[in-house]
Amino acid sequence: MNIYFDVDYTLIAMDGTLRPHTKETFSRLIDDGHKIYIWSGVGDRSTDIDRLKLSKYVSGVFVKPLTDFEVGLTRFEVDPIPDFVVDDHREIVEHFGGIHIEPLYFRSSNDEQMKSLYEAVFEFSECGKSAHRGFKKKPEKGLDF
Ligand SMILES: [Mg+2]
Repeated sequence: MNIYFDVDYTLIAMDGTLRPHTKETFSRLIDDGHKIYIWSGVGDRSTDIDRLKLSKYVSGVFVKPLTDFEVGLTRFEVDPIPDFVVDDHREIVEHFGGIHIEPLYFRSSNDEQMKSLYEAVFEFSECGKSAHRGFKKKPEKGLDF
């Protein structure tokens, strides 16, 4: 899958520190055949990705649409299409499907969210659903009557 991660409060806390277990999780996801993409509503975060030494895991960095998600994909030339998104904002997760992760505001050494995220992606890849409390399934198209 093409997995898109938000930056602020998803990967980093307010002080810019990385969420615990991010690198191991990225590495495991890549080993499982997934691709990691980064996007942010603030703009292009390539500098942060370099600073956090995440570049070797990341296949692309994009600007994230905050509203009109489908139009935004075209406007910001987001490619490939996200299969699974991880974000502390629920709305975008409900649109694309993925995990609504607990926001990380303050530096923490005992945050385990990345581990449960890995389990959720694994579970979803295997059976199309996940028991993770933040899991949102992408809505099926064409079911509006
Ligand atoms: Mg965020």
